[in-house]
Amino acid sequence: MPSMNPDGFEAVVKPDCFYSNGRENSNYYDLNRNFPDAFELNNVSRQPETAAVMEWLKTETFVLSANLHGGALVASYPFDNGVPATGTLYSRSITPDDDVFQYLAHTYASRNPTMKKGDQCKTKMNFPNGITNGYSWYPLKGGMQDYNYIWAQCFEITLELSCCKYPHEEKLPFFWNKNKASLIEYIKQVHLGVKGQVFDQNGNPLPNVIVEVQNRKHICPYRTNKFGEYYLLLLPGSYIINVTVPGHDPYLTNVVIPEKSQNFSALKKDILLPFRVQLDSIPVSNPSCSKIPLYSDLPSQSEATKPSLFLFLVTVFHIFVK
Ligand SMILES: [Zn+2]
Repeated sequence: MPSMNPDGFEAVVKPDCFYSNGRENSNYYDLNRNFPDAFELNNVSRQPETAAVMEWLKTETFVLSANLHGGALVASYPFDNGVPATGTLYSRSITPDDDVFQYLAHTYASRNPTMKKGDQCKTKMNFPNGITNGYSWYPLKGGMQDYNYIWAQCFEITLELSCCKYPHEEKLPFFWNKNKASLIEYIKQVHLGVKGQVFDQNGNPLPNVIVEVQNRKHICPYRTNKFGEYYLLLLPGSYIINVTVPGHDPYLTNVVIPEKSQNFSALKKDILLPFRVQLDSIPVSNPSCSKIPLYSDLPSQSEATKPSLFLFLVTVFHIFVK
């Protein structure tokens, strides 16, 4: 998608490094605050651009994405918003796939010679190795990357590519050269982990079946698509996959992700369930995945303690500097 905000792009008459003119669409909405939020109610009028992206995400099985921004130089990964259960007392908000997200952000940043240095925009923020957790940088509500990860089963990171918010056209070849290796390497990461189809005893592919890795449960469980396909981005290692068909016991199967992916493909593993499934018995939509805040009821982690004054001040500082 060349631009999610063509109104804003056209509204800018003169490129400007600092002034945020053009951030909003012509209805004065910031589209990166316009998505449903899993952590708090996002009571904004949904814009046509946002609704179109949400529809598009349903039509394809997107697995990996990135959204490209200007105004900083960093690869930022979910969550952007959070609750104590995701670690906000420690000024961060961590997903169950934090190892994968840190790896993805690092894959990008480490190949951009300026981004990887971490402090090139001369702001007060220093990003070690050019990556940051979104919430640690500054919390925000209604962003696209949290939406994609929670509701679209698509791992997304945010790439801030230039200190200047709206660089001049002549700088495009310069930015292309800085980011080409990173972009190509990032695209290749869609082949991380494991993928395959889920079948019942009769060989029917099963749509809308929950396929999750044990100990990294998504708040809105990831499900097979209409072809019965699943995709799980995972780093090399040994995992237990839990396949749950409503009305049946969970089916567990082990998978070992090798160190090197082969032939530019994730490990392929079809899962054959040892029972028959009545296809019309599987609910099409997931009742736990309504567009209302999902995380609000979660108890905070047992090891969570009261934040020190220092951490509190750091959070306040982050909110004010951004
Ligand atoms: Zn941004």
